[in-house]
Amino acid sequence: MLIFKQASLLQRHLTGVLPSQKTIGFVPTMGALHAGHLSLLQKARAQNDLVVCSIFVNPTQFNNPSDFLHYPKTIEQDLEVLMGAGCDILFLPPVAEVYPEGHIKKHFDLGVIETVLEGAHRPGHFQGVCEVVDRLLSLVTPHDLYLGQKDFQQCMVINQLLTITSRSLPQLHICPTLREEDGLAMSSRNLRLSMADRQTAPTLYKVLEKIKAGIAAQPLNLLEQSAVQELTSAGFVVDYVAVCNTRDLQKPTGPDQPWIALAAASLNGIRLIDNLPLN
Ligand code: AMP
Repeated sequence: MLIFKQASLLQRHLTGVLPSQKTIGFVPTMGALHAGHLSLLQKARAQNDLVVCSIFVNPTQFNNPSDFLHYPKTIEQDLEVLMGAGCDILFLPPVAEVYPEGHIKKHFDLGVIETVLEGAHRPGHFQGVCEVVDRLLSLVTPHDLYLGQKDFQQCMVINQLLTITSRSLPQLHICPTLREEDGLAMSSRNLRLSMADRQTAPTLYKVLEKIKAGIAAQPLNLLEQSAVQELTSAGFVVDYVAVCNTRDLQKPTGPDQPWIALAAASLNGIRLIDNLPLN
């Protein structure tokens, strides 16, 4: 596996080495890799000639300085995971390579999906996500981009980014959420949970399952309220539990669009998110 820290060297390598008919599969990450990331890498490996992964903890998408400062870093293990997955190239840039002097901040028109759920609770987050993904896509020029359903709203945002930047490529692949045996969605932030909070954390998934089980029989707002109550009693500080349509993440008005339940809540300052498609 080749490791590039400089954007210009990565670009030169990709344009120089790769015949134009070969495909690049790209998996952008923030590191502290787990089996969820691995599943994306494996899919990229199976479908492409070249697999590129990036590890970059993007400062512009963090609205909480403490979350950024304490984001887990496990680079030695990450290298093992990447080599085991058959990754060809790791892009591991410092901040100045992603945002060099003179970098002009763009505004991305994301429409209504930026104003709800994660967008409402993390101001500026999705502009930061688009800023980094736009830059990485320009550098890597992948044919296929692999994202996790775990970050459902982020997938919608990146889909919108591809539309507004008029990119015909990459093709987006949204991969299923990998979970621990107790249902907790795998996440780099799980490493920051205390032992006691790790026991409590699967409640986030359990309340989503209860919504799914109750959806045919009970009103949505009651299901959402009891989920918030259960999480709060378990010790979470809840940002939201919401059932939405998958078109624009607004309240569902009918069965014409698939529905999804999404939740975000913190345990002693560690913020977890999860979602579950309902139909
Ligand atoms: P992150 O390193 O958290 O920015 O995640 C990098 C990519 O991995 C994103 O597309 C995530 O949605 C995806 N991902 C994170 N957790 C999981 C998971 N449990 N299962 C599948 N994909 C995931």
